[in-house]
Amino acid sequence: MSVGKVLIVGGGFTGLTAAIALAKKGIVSTLIERAPAWARVGHGLTIQGNALRVFRELGVVDEVLAKGFPEERGVTLVFADGRVMTHLDTPRTGGPDLPPTIGALRPDIHEILLRRAESLGVEIRLGTQLDSFENHDGFATATLSDGTTESWDLIIVAEGIKSQTRPKLGITEDRAPSGLGIWRAVTERRPDMLGAIAFPDGTGGPGGAFKVGYTPVSDTQCYVFVLCDPVRPANGLSDWQEVRRLMADFHGEFDFLRETIDESTFLNFQEIEWIFVEGPWHTGRVLALGEAVHAVPPLIAQGAAQCVEDSLLLAEYLTAEGELEEQLTAFHARRVPRVKGVVDASLQLAHWEQHPGSPDADPGRVMAEALVALVPEP
Ligand SMILES: Cc1cc2nc3c(=O)[nH]c(=O)nc-3n(C[C@H](O)[C@H](O)[C@H](O)COP(=O)(O)OP(=O)(O)OC[C@H]3O[C@@H](n4cnc5c(N)ncnc54)[C@H](O)[C@@H]3O)c2cc1C
Repeated sequence: MSVGKVLIVGGGFTGLTAAIALAKKGIVSTLIERAPAWARVGHGLTIQGNALRVFRELGVVDEVLAKGFPEERGVTLVFADGRVMTHLDTPRTGGPDLPPTIGALRPDIHEILLRRAESLGVEIRLGTQLDSFENHDGFATATLSDGTTESWDLIIVAEGIKSQTRPKLGITEDRAPSGLGIWRAVTERRPDMLGAIAFPDGTGGPGGAFKVGYTPVSDTQCYVFVLCDPVRPANGLSDWQEVRRLMADFHGEFDFLRETIDESTFLNFQEIEWIFVEGPWHTGRVLALGEAVHAVPPLIAQGAAQCVEDSLLLAEYLTAEGELEEQLTAFHARRVPRVKGVVDASLQLAHWEQHPGSPDADPGRVMAEALVALVPEP
């Protein structure tokens, strides 16, 4: 084995799944997370089959499925007035024996991964951040915010898209705006409401959302997303009023959802950024992983899926024959084409969201092709 002592920086999906995948291969790591406590509330998440396939390998798929709401029937696209436009089957990217996708709440999935990591002996230090690192001959040192400096065989930087360590690895790419913003809300649904994505009718009503959609996350709840301009207008509206305004042109089930959103709803707005690092993800014994090197607009809901695929494969490479440098180089070469397919498709879809009249716009085809390409194992 090329590594025995591994530091993982970041306790999101990437860091936790890397810790679990390594522990299952006999490498018990230390994970640091700068947040002083784990968030217990959060948004919905669409988990595609290929992420479920990774969760099965990590030994948590039953718990994940129990917490989620399976979407066996694919995606229903509707017009702004609520009429059904078409229905798209979602490819089973995790194979025939897993649902094509599930909806779930992020904190639930995070909690499952956290418990699994802890049960495998991963040491987790909250409120601790990586301040700096140095590569040496045969080891790397990390200086942490608690003032300690320690040696490691490998440091995995799973710091997310805003990673501050990334440039210190010689990576020159930085996060960039996608031109989109997104509101997300967790709210109620009726039992007959099984998920939909709605498109505006182009008549320029009072709303202004590029698109709205919802995904069930349980028998009674769903998460709603509203794609819109990246800048929140200074219109004097409170958050829930702004979301209602953006949804004003969308009817049918969206009338119901809009009315459920009020001052008590858990809401969040953010500009959507992206990054893709095509060149090396490591320098010496320090490797950037997950959203630190690839983050996409969430238009085919593959962000976290690609992160957890990284983690599973990395553990395989690190426990195969060979030196660390060749393992990390081979790992990167294997991941880049697959991740790039997701990045290219997501950016194309983001472009079409902002230019709905594009003569070549064919989002259904691009989405389907991108997902079908993920059916073979990573
Ligand atoms: C609006 C939106 C919707 C999305 N929807 C979906 C979806 O439906 N399905 C899907 O698959 N994906 C989705 N994604 C993508 C998914 O959320 C991400 O791919 C995934 O959460 C990234 O995980 P990560 O662990 O790489 O990064 P993060 O979740 O950002 O975790 C990084 C962690 O590192 C910590 N950290 C940072 N720097 C340091 C440091 N120096 N020291 C210690 N700790 C540090 C941070 O505090 C953080 O906890 C969506 C993304 C967005 C923005």
